[in-house]
Amino acid sequence: MRFVVTGAAGFIGSHLCDRLLAEGHDVLGIDNLLTGSRANVAHLEGHPRFRLLVHDVCEPLELEPPVDGVLHLASPASPKDYLRYPIETLDVGSIGTRRMLELARRHGARFLLSSTSECYGDPLVHPQPETYWGNVNPVGPRSCYDEAKRFAEALTMAYRRVYGLRTSIARIFNTYGPRMKLDDGRVVPTFLDQALRGAPLTVYGDGSQTRSFCYVSDMVEGLWRLLLSEEPGPINLGNPAEISVLDFAQRILELTGSPSRIEFLPLPEDDPKRRQPEIRKAREVLGWEPRVSLEEGLRETIAWFRRHPAWGG
Ligand code: UDP
Repeated sequence: MRFVVTGAAGFIGSHLCDRLLAEGHDVLGIDNLLTGSRANVAHLEGHPRFRLLVHDVCEPLELEPPVDGVLHLASPASPKDYLRYPIETLDVGSIGTRRMLELARRHGARFLLSSTSECYGDPLVHPQPETYWGNVNPVGPRSCYDEAKRFAEALTMAYRRVYGLRTSIARIFNTYGPRMKLDDGRVVPTFLDQALRGAPLTVYGDGSQTRSFCYVSDMVEGLWRLLLSEEPGPINLGNPAEISVLDFAQRILELTGSPSRIEFLPLPEDDPKRRQPEIRKAREVLGWEPRVSLEEGLRETIAWFRRHPAWGG
């Protein structure tokens, strides 16, 4: 089959391309390289079944058939990136999603939307099941991302209802692993970069806020199973092992053997206080759950960052 992957030069997108190619499919990767990096797909250069098209999905696009699936992952995803590019983030979630839904409709293709746990905002329900409607500040600094993804979900459901498009929505929780940009501002590459340089680890607030970190191979397995299913979602994909940011910083110090100290900085506005996916639906419908422990995943990621000291995207 031939799949279109938007955001192919991004962190999760590039790993998903690897998986589709390994399953024997053809992949057309699309990326405008705003926050993605060619380095993430450099190993695929010359691959007979892969091509990277540098293109903004908000612009019109005609493709020759066949297109069997459109996997829409394009978007700035790190708070630092979407705070820097709020309008581009709103555009790709709205206009870009509309264009990719149209592409799927014209070709009778399957459509998969990568959505986010940010749809739940700063959640008042814990852990977060898919049935929870969320607690999003519609005008705060994070709203460009949260509301773009909520709109993208609504648009995807409208195409399903109006045109019978075969759609799926994945709500992706914090994911980490090789190919994250060292400078993308997210907590995993930031702490690893600081620990490996011996610089202070910058914990925001008092570090009592929690996240649940999923290793990228588990995430890709979940997305792959979702693609093979007929499940419309939304379906949470993430690792339910919850940890506070302060404990996470301490784990990083232990695993890297770093002499760095911890420095406390102000908490960013609207930073969600707790986040943990309820994954019962993914277990039941996809037979999926994460397999890689935080320690194992961090060891892999640390080894990768040590091998790629200049990885800056
Ligand atoms: N964080 C932190 N120090 C950093 C970067 C992030 O304490 O240098 C915190 C951030 O405030 C949040 C958590 O780590 O509570 C996860 O942040 P990230 O940007 O990775 O993703 P988010 O889950 O907020 O989208």
